Amino acid sequence: MKRLSMDDRLAKNRFDSDDHNSHILVDKEACRSCGHRACTYCCPAERYKWDTINDKLSFDHVGCLECGNCRLICERLNQGAEGYSWNYPGQGIGIIFREG
Ligand code: SF4
Ligand code: SF4
Repeated sequence: MKRLSMDDRLAKNRFDSDDHNSHILVDKEACRSCGHRACTYCCPAERYKWDTINDKLSFDHVGCLECGNCRLICERLNQGAEGYSWNYPGQGIGIIFREG
């Protein structure tokens, strides 16, 4: 059986995303001092990646499944530290699950 890429799997859902206003904010410069970078392995949609070339966090809110894992695992998101915030997308936008 063919193994689907993350993009293929995400495409099985429907997204009505606000491409320009992220419902999750992270301060990528401040993230350089994070000791665990747990967001890069807790996100089921692989929205957080560590850019090893630039030694910087990369984050794309489009494709977010709104599971809340990153808010639980990142103390800065959890506590709403300066430069960090987590909210659901505005009413009526975001993910529309087709399966499961
Ligand atoms: S866990 Fe939080 S502070 Fe650490 S890299 Fe990820 S978003 Fe930044
Ligand atoms: S809410 Fe879930 S899917 Fe969205 S970015 Fe955070 S961990 Fe990833």
